[in-house]
Amino acid sequence: MMNRFIALALSIVCISFAEAARLELPRSDAFAITQQLRFIEDSDATLTYQTLPDSDTHWEKNNDSHFNKGYSRSVWWLDLTIHNPDDHGHTRYLDLSYAVLDYVDVYIYSGDQLKEEYHTGDMRLYHSRPIDSNTFVIPLTWRPGETLRITYRLESGTSIQAPLTLWEPETYASKDAYSNIVQGFFFGSTLILAFYNLLIFFILRDRNYFYYASFIISLPLFFLTLSGQGYRYIWTDQIVLNSHAIPFFLGMSFMFSGFFTRRFLNLRALSIPTDVLVATFALLGGSVAVLSIALPYAIAIKALVPIGLCACFVYLFAGILAGFRKVPSARYYLIAWICFLVGSIFFALSKLGLMPLNFITEHAIQFGSIFQAVLLSLALANSINVERKLRFQAQAETLVTTKRLNEQLENRVHERTQELEVLNKQLKVLSNTDELTGLKNRRYMTTSLSEEWKRSARYQRQLSVLLLDIDFFKKVNDDYGHQIGDQCLIEVAKLIYESLRIPSDQVSRYGGEEFFVMLPETDAAGALSVAERIRSNIEKHTIVVDDTRFPVTVSIGLYSCTPETKHSVDYILNCADIALYQSKEQGRNRVTLYSEDNISGNSVEAR
Ligand code: GH3
Ligand code: MG
Ligand code: MG
Repeated sequence: MMNRFIALALSIVCISFAEAARLELPRSDAFAITQQLRFIEDSDATLTYQTLPDSDTHWEKNNDSHFNKGYSRSVWWLDLTIHNPDDHGHTRYLDLSYAVLDYVDVYIYSGDQLKEEYHTGDMRLYHSRPIDSNTFVIPLTWRPGETLRITYRLESGTSIQAPLTLWEPETYASKDAYSNIVQGFFFGSTLILAFYNLLIFFILRDRNYFYYASFIISLPLFFLTLSGQGYRYIWTDQIVLNSHAIPFFLGMSFMFSGFFTRRFLNLRALSIPTDVLVATFALLGGSVAVLSIALPYAIAIKALVPIGLCACFVYLFAGILAGFRKVPSARYYLIAWICFLVGSIFFALSKLGLMPLNFITEHAIQFGSIFQAVLLSLALANSINVERKLRFQAQAETLVTTKRLNEQLENRVHERTQELEVLNKQLKVLSNTDELTGLKNRRYMTTSLSEEWKRSARYQRQLSVLLLDIDFFKKVNDDYGHQIGDQCLIEVAKLIYESLRIPSDQVSRYGGEEFFVMLPETDAAGALSVAERIRSNIEKHTIVVDDTRFPVTVSIGLYSCTPETKHSVDYILNCADIALYQSKEQGRNRVTLYSEDNISGNSVEAR
């Protein structure tokens, strides 16, 4: 009796379970029915659709808007019963919208009779899908009053998820088209950005552009795999490629975004630990991406999720640091990452049911990454601009420096030229000066006389010259020594110089103890008086050197004429010399005027 009661009680519970699992065909165009699922975990994969237990005692009710069993090696059987209460038929699409499931087998029963079965999944060829779709969509048709039981067998290396939605076919078609347009737009724009930046990379050879392009292309490729569009449109039926695509593209995007971050923010110069941290996450991402070709999907993805989460925050931290350190374009970088993170957070929250699933939340991550791509592209452009400005600035500075150096050089050259001019003047003075007496020397006198000769010839002016020779000078040397002889020469030179009164009169040492005096614009009478003054001044003077005292006299030859161009300078000197000779001849200490009529000359005797 008791047993019967228990059996009855159990059967009521079972019926109530069975009834709870049975769903009336919903009226709405799109109806999420994951909550209505019941399931069995077939750990050793021994069950078949024929051996599946029917009794509710073996089935567990999902009772949750999500069905997510994580990474599981078990086979999962899912079951739904939907009843059409209407007196007319209905057609619906049942969408299992998790595109990466490996094996999806579907059995559709009407009562006990198996009506349809489908064997699909992304480890099977694309045409195994009854409806052309990114995800696994099956058509369901109810006759009036018919109840359909839909049983899924799921087996996958990916996580086991079963978001199930019952769609009105037309609504589904338009949603599918819309989602394709959005994804197409998203993928197309990133593709163009990526190609554009690759071109820039080839032109500029700046690796930053390569990292950027690779990053913004790997991320949408990851999303395309996740949404099933990659397998549907791009690598259709490439089962092996498709099965590695998710961890590969994800790992690559961590790697390239890390490398980009390092170079773009110039982290090495900013903070070595941050640079090493970013590099570590980039390399970890890259390594898992490469290893994922050989590793089982579950292991690769389990490694990538924490790496990716940490990487996102490390890269964000690097951006904040660079922002504080005033790195150019760091704020673009920061805003870009924030856009991407906000998109990802929206996406995650909507998947967890914490935000309504709508157009924005569903595509938030795509919008976030598009904003990110555009902003980073702007940031790169900005960095070119900043660099160009710096280059212009450097050029301007170089120009200023060059100008200043030129000015300095010019000043130096000017100073040197002036110094040289002074030195030249000094040199000229020295080269024209007699060292002993300080009078002009013979070289200067010859040039000067030649010029004066020409001038006087042109203007027909009188010119007089005197040639003086100390009398018995050899004796002075002999009696008092050469040094006293020199002193005597100095004093005589001084006496001659002081005897001249007109500035244009010039005295020079002609050589040895001979002197030459040039008297421009002076006739014979004037010249005779000058010569006489010199002679008498010397005669009156006593040479005193220390204790030695002695008199000295000079003989003078005078030549006076109005020069003719046919005569040369030598001619005058010769005439003056002849007159001097006459002075010597006639007893010394006298002045003789040269005369052609009387070649012996008129000498003025000493008084
Ligand atoms: P004269 O009356 O005939 O001119 O007799 P002099 O002794 O002056 O004869 P001369 O012209 O032959 O001698 C010139 C001497 O002047 C010869 C040389 O020793 C001396 N003498 C020439 N130049 C210098 C000089 O720079 N310093 C000294 N101390 N002696 C000089
Ligand atoms: Mg002499
Ligand atoms: Mg002499």
